[in-house]
Amino acid sequence: MAVRLIFSFDSEDYMTPAAAEAEKWWAEIMSKHGITACIAIVGELARTLQKRGRKDVLSAMSAHEIAYHSDFHSLPPTWAEILDECGWQDGIERILLTELKGISDVREAFGQHPSAWCKPGTVGALKLLQRCRYWISQFFAIHLLPFNAVNLFGSLTL
Ligand SMILES: [Zn+2]
Repeated sequence: MAVRLIFSFDSEDYMTPAAAEAEKWWAEIMSKHGITACIAIVGELARTLQKRGRKDVLSAMSAHEIAYHSDFHSLPPTWAEILDECGWQDGIERILLTELKGISDVREAFGQHPSAWCKPGTVGALKLLQRCRYWISQFFAIHLLPFNAVNLFGSLTL
């Protein structure tokens, strides 16, 4: 029986410039050994790497499967905090507006659409997951369409 391993990394430190060296090192060491990792990227990290001119890091990470890890990870207000103040429809809309920008930025920075969603931190509250189920289905539905986040949001029927 063959054993299959999946190497999955969260990449979410957009505050510490030196963290980019670790991101690059992990991506390169995986590539060196012929391993394709799954790297879950926070939208703000994608933007920060671009602003800092770290094409070397973006290129090294782009050799792997890119997943999406929310726009700002656990920066307040978190999803749970946002949804606690919202009803069903306005909660979905508020989060969708933020997350579509992150998805678009990750796609632009890495040249590939995120293959998966990796939830940020401890946002696994049952209430939140129930609400996200609908949104995640939209995420997978929309990824086939070319989009500008604002235009796409305007065209969605929620
Ligand atoms: Zn994380």
